[in-house]
Amino acid sequence: LRSEAGIIERIWAKLPTGDDEDRRRWLEIGVGDDAAVLRGAPVGLANYGRTADWALSTDAFLEGSHFLTGIHPPGTVGYKALARATSDLAAMGAEPRFFLLNLALSPTRTARWLDGFLAGMAEAAREFRMVLIGGDTSRNETITVNLTVGGTVSHGRALTRSGARPGDGVYVTGALGAAQLGLELLLRGRSAKEERQLLKAQLHPKIQVEVGRWLAGASGWKPIASAAIDTSDGLSTDLDHICRASGVGARIFAERIPCVQEPAWRRRRGTDPLRLALHGGEDYQLLFTAQGTVPAQYKGVRITRIGEVVPLRALSRRGNPRHGERRSSIELVRSDGSSSRLEPRGWDHFRS
Ligand SMILES: [Mg+2]
Repeated sequence: LRSEAGIIERIWAKLPTGDDEDRRRWLEIGVGDDAAVLRGAPVGLANYGRTADWALSTDAFLEGSHFLTGIHPPGTVGYKALARATSDLAAMGAEPRFFLLNLALSPTRTARWLDGFLAGMAEAAREFRMVLIGGDTSRNETITVNLTVGGTVSHGRALTRSGARPGDGVYVTGALGAAQLGLELLLRGRSAKEERQLLKAQLHPKIQVEVGRWLAGASGWKPIASAAIDTSDGLSTDLDHICRASGVGARIFAERIPCVQEPAWRRRRGTDPLRLALHGGEDYQLLFTAQGTVPAQYKGVRITRIGEVVPLRALSRRGNPRHGERRSSIELVRSDGSSSRLEPRGWDHFRS
């Protein structure tokens, strides 16, 4: 099994590669040739009688940078790699369809580790209804997982970062900070029964595909969101992305932010749920802006209004960026009524 051909055969055997009727509508040639061939996305791949657009994204998941084999079991690595890549399709309002897997492993990882990895990835593929349509394998001392994901969205309805306008509300799904807290618990080697939900947020994140499609108008109603992003880096960083792309500011209220609930033993040690919610990454919730009223939940996923979009000139001038950083586009109003600029302090690979 330690030949490349054997590994590829195992990948094809374990991951859904698709030969059902739905796939035949859009997939001309899948795994097994030099390239996959997609058909033009016809009406019927998108809702509401419109033609479909393809949404594509690529994502690297690297041992040492994004996961640690000591605390992330192989099934977690496989599941999470596909979930985090597909979360970017959710943020565009797209329906996931396919992925290409580019996997590099050391020979010691080609037996049990690979089986666990593929089982986790297959679970995610079935959950998001995606098929493997191609990829590549190679040998490398550390594990690298590169994924390209694709999905369909009604023509012209993909959610972008650039549509936020003053007067829109700022909304977020679920709770924030759970994945970061889960990581901190894992790194400390603690895991009590009450912490299982937190570890799950880190090891087996739930992504918001259904909410994303609803926000883009796939339900047949008019689109709901004016702009959207998934919270992969942290609220302070991801909201800043929307503000910059849209040329607007945002005012958010600390007491409205749905923070992770910490176990009591941990709260006593003075960790700050607000810090985790503002700057913790990997939650894969959807952060979006919308005009008018948005329901408080969709299919059981909580939706919280945390603030509003404002013109840049309306923002508080208090709070200074660190040396060399641009001034943030977000104002945070604290529970005592004081407010200051919120600098993006989420995940950044290249920040020293
Ligand atoms: Mg994203």
